[in-house]
Amino acid sequence: MNNSIASVPFPKNEPIRSYEPNSEEKKSVLKTYNKLKQSNIEVPMWINGKSVKSSKTHNMSPPHNHKHSLGKYYLAEKKHVELAIKSALNAKEKWSNMPWEERAAIFLKAAELIAGPYRDKINAATMLAQSKTIFQAEVDAACELIDFLKFNIHSMQHIYSQQPKSDSGVWNRLTYRPLEGFVYAITPFNFTAISGNLPGSAAMMGNTVVWKPSDHQIFSAKIVIDVFKEAGLPDGVINAVYGDPEMITDVILKSKYFSGIHFTGSTTVFKDLWKKIGAKIDNFISYPRIVGETGGKDFIIAHRSAKIDELVTAIIRGGFEFQGQKCSAASRIYIPKSMSKKVFSKLKKQISTIKMGSPENFKNFMTAVIHENSFDKLSRVIKKVKKDRDAKILVGGGYNKSKGYFIEPTIITTSNPKYFTMEKELFGPIVTIYTFDDSKWDKVLNLVDETSEYALTGAIFCQDRYILEESVKKLENCAGNFYINDKCTGAVVGQQPFGGARGSGTNDKAGSYLNLLRWVSPRLIKEVFVPPRDYKYPFMG
Ligand code: NAD
Repeated sequence: MNNSIASVPFPKNEPIRSYEPNSEEKKSVLKTYNKLKQSNIEVPMWINGKSVKSSKTHNMSPPHNHKHSLGKYYLAEKKHVELAIKSALNAKEKWSNMPWEERAAIFLKAAELIAGPYRDKINAATMLAQSKTIFQAEVDAACELIDFLKFNIHSMQHIYSQQPKSDSGVWNRLTYRPLEGFVYAITPFNFTAISGNLPGSAAMMGNTVVWKPSDHQIFSAKIVIDVFKEAGLPDGVINAVYGDPEMITDVILKSKYFSGIHFTGSTTVFKDLWKKIGAKIDNFISYPRIVGETGGKDFIIAHRSAKIDELVTAIIRGGFEFQGQKCSAASRIYIPKSMSKKVFSKLKKQISTIKMGSPENFKNFMTAVIHENSFDKLSRVIKKVKKDRDAKILVGGGYNKSKGYFIEPTIITTSNPKYFTMEKELFGPIVTIYTFDDSKWDKVLNLVDETSEYALTGAIFCQDRYILEESVKKLENCAGNFYINDKCTGAVVGQQPFGGARGSGTNDKAGSYLNLLRWVSPRLIKEVFVPPRDYKYPFMG
């Protein structure tokens, strides 16, 4: 019996641990790091609650030490994807009928497990799999994932309590059904939190899910799965398959019960998925929900009234933390000529102090980029810039892949505001600066607006309130997350709901009620207590 209307715990953001020298938390996470480094694990697929192996495997290695093996994971064949779909569909009825408080309890427990016994493991695995420093791992794998889980559960309750009004004699009720069928979640390499959130948010709203993590995050995705298991997620609610994304997607889209996609990754892949879904629209029993958070070419624009030290810190942190591999990373910068000399000199000085290497060494601010393809692409960009006439390298420009995929923090300056590094997402530690005439502020605002296909994040540094007010208006459509006198990265769940428009995605704001609404299909129930007994209306009298 459940004769009560439960209230979920009010969410608070998870406090970030600082991992100071000689702290117990530092020792403890390093101990786990070293243990996981030698673990040589096998990661089977996770289908209907069971570990499933196949005949094909891939190796996993840390990007900062690519010759070292962390173990291997199993690749799906067509039959495994079909099994994952079947298992999601079989689990659906029981899961969607489970009282929402019970579902909430599972995900709240998952959050507490990450905050407590799994914290070191999920952080250490993220340091190894994605080469994050401890701070970047802590804000992602621990804090953001905990926040996603807790805030989403709170939003879930909020959504369920939204009800229509009822006139006298009538009772209108809205029920929030999960989508009919199953949801397909595809996650990127760069955030362990996203890997838990995309399948998790759809599942908490009563859906069952087939999840395909990125090949380059499977080592830490495994910890997410361990947490969900230990939290008591029933078999088949989330099913993880790994490997060839095109084959997996083709099998998924053959099912008429495909009801939605929860995607985060690059714009090209998302556009391709959208086209494939469109081409198969007659195949599905419903119009699938298409939710995608995609690429960015995020900007910082400085007015001559900006404070130089604040601007320089924002460029370095926003551009180079996690090697610039954040969708929100600052990568095109607009600064007025009057301050360029000072900004350049401070950037040079400060960047020369940046240490790069393994995340095991806490002095390192940067580590390696994710894989060889990314390394090769970024080093090609640097080679081209070195040859081009309209750009030059102000700082950095070095690269080395002998041990890990290391690219130096690199700043390019260009006289061409449409230079390709001002337009294209590079997803690495490369930042381009365009210097403008102080008197051309309005023109440069237009440039910011027109220069790339994306509209994810952007920041303005300015102390003049008139200019600020006008500029924020003019830049209205350039960014889904806009920052004033702050770097353009580091959105916090519950505080800065995250997502962008234009080529950056469907802007459904992960970690907020707006996103969760995409995973329900409301049903209105109207009940009339004393129905009319004569078809004639009074006006006919
Ligand atoms: P990616 O697009 O290469 O891969 C993302 C996921 O899509 C992976 O699981 C991958 O295996 C899968 N995939 C690749 N090709 C596919 C295909 N043809 N069909 C189906 N699935 C396919 O991206 P990535 O390198 O993992 O991540 C970086 C990208 O993600 C960047 O563009 C970044 O801006 C974006 N990103 C955006 C956000 C956001 O919130 N807007 C957050 C994180 C990352």
